[in-house]
Amino acid sequence: MNFGSLLIDLFFPADCKTCKELLRWNENYICKSCFDKIEPLKPPICVKCGRHIDGGIICLSCKSRRIYFEKARSYGGFSGVLKEAIHLLKYEKRLILADRLANLMDGVVDLFENEFHYLIPVPIHKKKERKRKFNQTKLFCDFLSKNRGIPVLSGLIKEIDTPPQVGLDHIARMQNVKGSFRWKGDKRQIEGHRLLLIDDVMTTGSTVNECSQVLMAEGAESIYVLTLAST
Ligand SMILES: [Zn+2]
Ligand SMILES: [Zn+2]
Repeated sequence: MNFGSLLIDLFFPADCKTCKELLRWNENYICKSCFDKIEPLKPPICVKCGRHIDGGIICLSCKSRRIYFEKARSYGGFSGVLKEAIHLLKYEKRLILADRLANLMDGVVDLFENEFHYLIPVPIHKKKERKRKFNQTKLFCDFLSKNRGIPVLSGLIKEIDTPPQVGLDHIARMQNVKGSFRWKGDKRQIEGHRLLLIDDVMTTGSTVNECSQVLMAEGAESIYVLTLAST
């Protein structure tokens, strides 16, 4: 924070974006009490993709298609404060929230009960990244990498700039991302390795499944998926 913005904060204290209460000097955009309300997903969850289900063991979408990852897990549901925080980070570029959110994801890593050789951020198309100036999944990876000592590999690219997945159904989402990712790194980097793929939000899992298929085709040993939120 520079001196100018410190002065602005002193004279015009900001409100919490969710509860509208005044923020304390050491809080940014979302107050501690709101942030603490972000809850981890409650069971029952699908054993495969980790999304909340009303009952049973595996969700319909995992039953009805081939899944290329071993297991996916999310921190919380895509609603309330968590949804607002993701929106602030992605679309209002409140990058300071990235570490706080990645810290939530960090606790989920232990649920896999596995060691990972590399973290892989789900990429966005370079045109989108240039416009947004960052990719939030890379920021999450940087935090997790520092905390866990797992290196990040960035050889996975989004080659085709597909339309947003929002509003598409399960089948349309699968078709939309089909063939849009490519591994442009050295094949030997991932061959025989256990990878943890990182994304922000999982809806039907089409994106992470497509990425997993690409990585498995390059010879990865297995893919696990960690997302901040799932719907
Ligand atoms: Zn608040
Ligand atoms: Zn599932």
